[in-house]
Order: sequence, then C-alpha cells, then structure tokens
Amino acid sequence: MMDEVNEFDFENRIVSTEYDGNQDYEVENSLRPKALVDYIGQEKAKSNLKIYIESAKKRGEALDHVLLYGPPGLGKTTLAGIIAAEMGVNIRTTSGPAIEKQGDLAAILTNLGEGDVLFIDEVHRLSKAIEEILYPAMEDYSLDIIIGKGPSARSIRLPIPKFTLIGATTRAGQLTTPLRDRFGVLLKLELYTPEELSSIVKRSAGILGIEITDEGALGIATRSRGTPRIANRLLKRVRDFALVKGDGTITSEIAKYALEALEIDELGLDNTDRRMLEAIIKFYGGGPVGLDTLSATIGEEAITIEDVYEPYLMQIGFLARTPRGRCATKLAYDHLGIPFINGVNV
Ligand code: ADP
Repeated sequence: MMDEVNEFDFENRIVSTEYDGNQDYEVENSLRPKALVDYIGQEKAKSNLKIYIESAKKRGEALDHVLLYGPPGLGKTTLAGIIAAEMGVNIRTTSGPAIEKQGDLAAILTNLGEGDVLFIDEVHRLSKAIEEILYPAMEDYSLDIIIGKGPSARSIRLPIPKFTLIGATTRAGQLTTPLRDRFGVLLKLELYTPEELSSIVKRSAGILGIEITDEGALGIATRSRGTPRIANRLLKRVRDFALVKGDGTITSEIAKYALEALEIDELGLDNTDRRMLEAIIKFYGGGPVGLDTLSATIGEEAITIEDVYEPYLMQIGFLARTPRGRCATKLAYDHLGIPFINGVNV
C-alpha cells in the first residue's frame, strides 16, 4: 500500500495548485485580471492597496515594498501585475531560488526603471547572501559593492532606481525578520468563498468562450478548495466533459458528473485529502499526530501538507492544528462516513 502511495504523482493531481506545464501557464496568463476592478474578492487587501497606490501616486513616489502571503494559487502573482499596472510602471518577475549569485540580483536592480516593480516569488527561498544585497537596496535604494580583494578591497555604494519590491510567499513565518521588517505593506490573501470563485469561473469561461450556467459555475466553485487556480483548471476539465457528454454547455449536472469522474467530491476533496484524513483517523485514533509522522505515513512532503492540503481542510473545519499535532474533527468523520466515538477525538 505504501508503494501505491509513494507513486502518487502530485504534479498530475487535478486539484494541484501547481502549473501543469507551459500550455497551462499560457492559458493561466490569459485569465489573469489586469486591473484591480477585475480582481475578484480579497476585499480587505484590495481596499488597503487602493489607498497605498493612490497615496504613492499623489506623492509621485514608488509604492512601499509589499509582501503578499497565502497559499499557492490565490492570486499573488496576479496582484503583483495589477499593482504595477495601477502604478503605471514596468514589472520584472523572478523567484527566490532563481537568484543564485549576488551579481544576478545586482544586474536586475540596476536595470530597473524609476518606480518599477520587482516581483520575487517564493521570496522566503532567497539565500542569506542575496538577502544582504536586498537590505540596502530596499532601505536606501543603493547597492553595496566590494571592489578588489584582500587588504585593498573597498566597498562602494551605487545608487539604484527607487523601486518597489513585491515579495510573494506561501509562508510568511519562514521569512527572516530583517527581510520581513523591510516590507512596509503586508497583505494576507485568504481562501475565496464559493460565490467569489463562482464569479471567477464565469469570468474565465467568458474569456475562454465556454458556455456555463450559474449553477454549473457554482458546482465548480464549491469544489475548488477556495483557490482560483484550481477553479480555472476544473473549468477546463469540466468543459471537456460538457463537449463530449453534453451539448457543450456546463450545467450543474455536467459539473457534478465530470467532478465525480475526476474523483473530486462535493467539497472539493480528492483522494489524497481523503487518504490523509483516513490515516489520521484509522492509524492515529483521530490524532493528535505530528506533521512529520503524517508526512511519512501518506508519502507527501510535510511542506506540501502544510501549504496545500491543510489550509483548505482547516477552513472547512475538518482538521485542527493543536500544539501536539493534527487532529481530524467530527465533521471529517461524518464526511468520510466513519463513526465518531465521543471523547476520543477533538
Ligand atoms: P499565486 O501567485 O498566488 O500562486 P496566481 O496569481 O498565479 O496565484 O493566480 C492563479 C490564477 O488564478 C491566475 O491565472 C488567475 O487567472 C486566477 N486568479 C487569482 N486570483 C484571482 C482573482 N482575485 N480574480 C480572478 N482571477 C484570479
């Protein structure tokens, strides 16, 4: 059984929050809203951002550095693009692991235009040496460069354009304190409600030329784990079923039929979610079970469990994180049809 578990291909998981390749990336880009008015949901983050953007524009200065955090697929990259567009500046996109040498970052920074946005995805994965280049860049818009070697080495300061760093991370807690402190604006993105996701599905269907009813959109939305990237992916899969099994229009029946065929249940849980909950219940009496133990049991990396599976399972009240480990709640037992023995679990 363990082998079967380990062979599970995360990349091909239909509710995965990762891209499935280049083609997917291109479609995803076409679905990205380009202006703040088209960015659905995240009202709190949006209303604060509007004020900061307007104020920066009035002052004629670059927007303060922004840290966006939240689970994958919630719209951090999209929002970074929108911020740049609303500020009327260019955006340069990179990611923490992609910047290997100090010189790479120095080259990026010196090539930015005044007020431009530098977007660093997975900013928690920057190396220490790279972070040290970022500190004076963020604070004083300058680069400290060492010239020469040995006793004759000296450091010079080079000015760089006043820019806005937008960092995105799934885990704000993993950022070093000096880096986190240099972001003036911290915005947490929340999982979306089914209604918001339904609007996103309808908007995407419009762009992709897919016919969909309100009920069909809601059917997809409620199974998308609060995540727009998953909603858009399910939309494309359900469209295939609508074309082959129906007349091309996504109705609630087609959505239901397709998602059942894809083994995604009415709450958006797939086999991996169910396997994880079952493992907690059957092997560990409902919990508490430590993250590492759980990870070894189901053959998924601890980081994936934390970033991808848990946020949604916690949002729907199926999983509780306690100081002693993870526990399955009564709701999870009920959903899986496993009798709940009072007092044993949370
Ligand atoms: P992240 O960077 O957080 O992983 P992305 O910005 O890449 O997420 O968003 C994934 C996809 O979800 C985008 O292609 C976009 O189409 C869609 N999306 C995300 N947020 C929204 C939103 N608020 N409104 C509409 N579509 C969204």
